[in-house]
Amino acid sequence: QGEIDFKQDAKFAQHLKKGEGVSNFAKSKTFAQQRQYLPIFSIREELLQVIRENQVIVVVGETGSGKTTQLTQYLHEDGYTNNGIVGCTQPRRVAAMSVAKRVSEEMETELGDKVGYAIRFEDVTGPNTVIKYMTDGVLLRETLKDSDLEKYRIIVMDEAHERSLSTDVLFGILKKVVARRRDFKLIVTSATLNAQKFSDFFGNVPIFHIPGRTFPVQTLYSKTPCEDYVEGAVKQAMAIHITSAPGDILIFMTGQDEIEATCYALQERMEQLASKKEAPKLLILPIYSQLPADLQAKIFENAEDGARKCIVATNIAETSLTVDGILYVIDTGYGKIKVYNPRMGLDALQVFPVSRANADQRAGRAGRTGPGTCYRLYTESAYLNEMLPSPVPEIQRSNVGNVVLLLKSLKVDNLLDFDFMDPPPQENILNSMYQLWVLGALNNVGDLTDIGWKMVEFPLDPPLAKMLLMGKQLGCIDEVLTIVSMLSVPSVFFRPKDRVEESDAAREKFFVPESDHLTLLNVYQQWESNHCRGDWCNDHFLHVKGLRKAREVRSQLLDILQTLRIPLMSCGLDWDVVRMAICSAYFHNSARLKGVGEYVNCRNGMPCHLHPSSALYGLGYTPDYVVYHELILTAKEYMQCATAVEPQWLAELGPMFFSVKDSDTSMIYHKKKQKQEKTAMEEEMESLRKVQEDKERE
Ligand code: ADP
Ligand code: MG
Repeated sequence: QGEIDFKQDAKFAQHLKKGEGVSNFAKSKTFAQQRQYLPIFSIREELLQVIRENQVIVVVGETGSGKTTQLTQYLHEDGYTNNGIVGCTQPRRVAAMSVAKRVSEEMETELGDKVGYAIRFEDVTGPNTVIKYMTDGVLLRETLKDSDLEKYRIIVMDEAHERSLSTDVLFGILKKVVARRRDFKLIVTSATLNAQKFSDFFGNVPIFHIPGRTFPVQTLYSKTPCEDYVEGAVKQAMAIHITSAPGDILIFMTGQDEIEATCYALQERMEQLASKKEAPKLLILPIYSQLPADLQAKIFENAEDGARKCIVATNIAETSLTVDGILYVIDTGYGKIKVYNPRMGLDALQVFPVSRANADQRAGRAGRTGPGTCYRLYTESAYLNEMLPSPVPEIQRSNVGNVVLLLKSLKVDNLLDFDFMDPPPQENILNSMYQLWVLGALNNVGDLTDIGWKMVEFPLDPPLAKMLLMGKQLGCIDEVLTIVSMLSVPSVFFRPKDRVEESDAAREKFFVPESDHLTLLNVYQQWESNHCRGDWCNDHFLHVKGLRKAREVRSQLLDILQTLRIPLMSCGLDWDVVRMAICSAYFHNSARLKGVGEYVNCRNGMPCHLHPSSALYGLGYTPDYVVYHELILTAKEYMQCATAVEPQWLAELGPMFFSVKDSDTSMIYHKKKQKQEKTAMEEEMESLRKVQEDKERE
């Protein structure tokens, strides 16, 4: 082991002969030299020529070949930015930020000057910006204000193979922009072989291949299914670290909790080793989307001499981020994906086996800088027989409420006719329309209402936007604005593993007995009255960064309120109306007490539980009715962020679901009524469709 055959790449072998280890490569070369070494550089001229000759092209290349960081720069160098911006979309926020930073360094400009990025609630671009990285969601929202995307000369739709919800909607929208604007170009990039499908969608456009430069990867399967993949991964990583040749390790986990558990366990094993004998250093580096940016950047830093890096990542490291020097991949075979259940009307993040395409992509990460090894913590039979060949596009497994709202405002009247590459199931569209109707965003014939038009203005999920607008009606928009902002950032409560009790006690001091939403409001207000001080946050186990982010989100939403001429109004300390505003937007997520501490969803009878971190749980207060922000499925179905509500409110604010007399018979009656109303709505949609079809035939 450890015998590395670098014959495949003479240039690279030279570097190694000169005694420059893999991870020293970046250290010893200027940015210009590093750029020239990337595979995409060898075909720079041909690529630019094809772009000059075509309006739309598809570019395919292995991850790490330089598509994301180089393509935008080539376009800039070729003069496209003389009249317009080069925009590049990313499905993930982390990728947009980290890539923009890298490119700004390569171009020797401040981030936010010539090169910038925009993600929801964060715009780091300026008047000089000519290369703009952004999430696909941001570009999608920009089409609302400027349907022809006039300020862009070229859009690179990066990571199209990910088939994120927004990317899929953008496909349909950009196809129209391409037809309307002859001066506009579109480049779709993909890491895998979906390319033909993309090419067909845009009318059989050219596909350009970047020649690959990868090394063979040996794949080893687990002989038996792995009971506990965190444990399995930790063991495997330690085995590699102790016995295998130099080279960094990349572990794929499903989410933050598992990543933290894995890092913690690795740290522990390393400490045990250190006390016994001299063990080589292991640099343990987590990466997931909610990790603060400065910690995220650490994965790209070079380890000190003799140390090995072990990166523990979500599927973010599958294609969107490339770290050089990885020779060992440990794949748990699982990932977290959002699935929408239209019958239950809920979105939930669930752990699922990844597809074979994802698994192969993960393995490929080991062969970027030399022949590598991928340890799969599942059996070969599971790979062959149980995994799907490729992932299901997000649009086919998500709540499309936001998409419906957006397309409606873009005057796409009949959603069933929108040019989707793979249309969402009709049931999802109808269900999302039904939810929007229930929220009052659509009228009986499926057109946007006044409230609906206003809701579109906010980059928020429809219920949150509704909550804001109800806050206005109930005279408590100031308070609701804070709650919405706090719900739009990661949890601000800091709970270090070694100080659990202390931090829980600190959190309890903020509890408002009847509501987690009001608890968030309380935290924010107290932070403000303590002059937003950082040391105050530390004393109270709060993340100051999270609170600052909430303040930023708040000020951006406030700007939107101002453009809509909605004045800020406070209800003072009468927080009952705030709970009412919450209820008005979340009555579809309501639960009724049934037995000791047990709740069931009011609409479908599904059991659900207060989360142990909830104020209601902590104070042992179990009101008869609650609404909750979202349901998370872990060991149990937990209601995340719950608030006590009065049953009359449910009846008043969600009359399509509830009656005042809350006997079981009336629930059944209302279920029936709800079903009738839904059928009526569907019939309405169907007849609209027929009218449309007739029109087209004429
Ligand atoms: P692709 O998009 O084809 O997967 P990229 O353009 O993302 O390729 O990556 C090209 C190279 O740039 C890779 O070798 C990668 O390691 C390096 N790179 C990308 N982002 C960073 C960063 N933030 N810091 C250091 N190196 C980076
Ligand atoms: Mg890329």
